Amino acid sequence: MKKRLGGKTVEEWVATFPILKEIVGMREVLWLNPGYGQAVPNLVSGSDVADAEERLHRFAPYIEAAFPESRPSEGIIESPLRETSTMKQFLHRASGVDIFGRLMMKADSELPISGSIKARGGLYEVLKTAEDLAVRQGLLKLSDDYSELANASFKKFFSRYSIAVGSTGNLGLSIGIVGAKLGFRTTVHMSRDAQQWKKDLLREKGAEVCEYDADYSVAVTEGRKLAEQDPRCHFIDDENSKDLFVGYATAGSRLKEQFQEQGIEVDADHPLFVYLPCGVGGGPGGVTFGLKLAFGENVHAFFVEPTHSPSFLLGLLTGLNDQVSVQDFGLDNRTAADGLAVPKPSAFVGRAAGHLISGCITVDDDRLFQFLRGLKDTENVWVEPSAAAGLIGPQMILGTAEGRSYLEVCRLTEKMPTATHLFWATGGGMVPEKIREAYYERAARI
Ligand SMILES: *Cc1c(COP(=O)(O)O)cnc(C)c1O
Repeated sequence: MKKRLGGKTVEEWVATFPILKEIVGMREVLWLNPGYGQAVPNLVSGSDVADAEERLHRFAPYIEAAFPESRPSEGIIESPLRETSTMKQFLHRASGVDIFGRLMMKADSELPISGSIKARGGLYEVLKTAEDLAVRQGLLKLSDDYSELANASFKKFFSRYSIAVGSTGNLGLSIGIVGAKLGFRTTVHMSRDAQQWKKDLLREKGAEVCEYDADYSVAVTEGRKLAEQDPRCHFIDDENSKDLFVGYATAGSRLKEQFQEQGIEVDADHPLFVYLPCGVGGGPGGVTFGLKLAFGENVHAFFVEPTHSPSFLLGLLTGLNDQVSVQDFGLDNRTAADGLAVPKPSAFVGRAAGHLISGCITVDDDRLFQFLRGLKDTENVWVEPSAAAGLIGPQMILGTAEGRSYLEVCRLTEKMPTATHLFWATGGGMVPEKIREAYYERAARI
């Protein structure tokens, strides 16, 4: 008997949604989300995000004390926003598409502490866990100076607890580094996509690394099971965590401030298109939630996934969320974009942010390397392959029938010369020099 997904065979799904033929064929697509703008029950609120912002401010003195690289920003972990006009020319030359509007980069690859977007959500959930424990034990009040948390007595206290997480690499890095710094025992369950240097670095920082010769979902499931047996262990659940989500969402108001500082308008006449590399969906989903709080309908968020691993797209398109995996549609989840090699999406994010996403885009691995090399050559900045995914956004919006129909429906066609395209460069800051060179070389061979 043929396998059924939500009551249908794969053939029936393809007959219902013809774009699935392209997706199964691993071709690059732009899929417009029919659920965009629908009213849904709120799982997260603006006050949850405001609460997270306050918590990060309480922790700033600790971050500043524990991580000297955060001193220039007084313990607030934030990344640069910059215009990349020579890269815009590169995209125009490479694609033949006229890129109307401004191209900008949100350089989470340069976030202090762990050099990826995970320094938002991952860091936040570890800090919240620490605060909850210390407050419950009567060791800390919310009005205290949190730099005290860097003292040996707190380290000793936290060493009685552990934190565990499943990761393709970057989430583990961020949690391992901050967790170990606070004194927690940290265990990172890593999928086979995780790069060796990430495992080595984590072990060097004092985290325990468990390796699985399996994909991300398996690493998370196994990690969750082990953590459940230990009442003193907090499992950071990338497939279900609201804390991770609100940590990511704090990016929205920060970005709004950065646009204001740089004198760049975002309003009905200056729409903002944001292209977010997507794995399980927590990072891009949380950021999108924050962006919608900051910019409302003037921001248009598109998620970007590898052609071999469009899990979030399949979850939204079929409405099956985490009940569908890319393997169900015959895809192999093998991609050089290790941060995006996730076979099934987070159910939580689909429900909390699915209605905020304008659409999903897929991108071929070869193109990631082309973008990575282009960025180095034009702007002299480094990103990892996953983090280059968003650069396909402008040409998909401006150069495809689907993109143009989105602009028509939203009455934005005329506004494109004053639009901003922002690609979220989600990681790469910690990639060792040797590996950077290998990425660059791989691009030259394409
Ligand atoms: C984790 C990660 C993403 C995507 O975040 P998800 O929460 O898994 O969707 C994108 N880029 C990089 C570099 C990452 O490490």
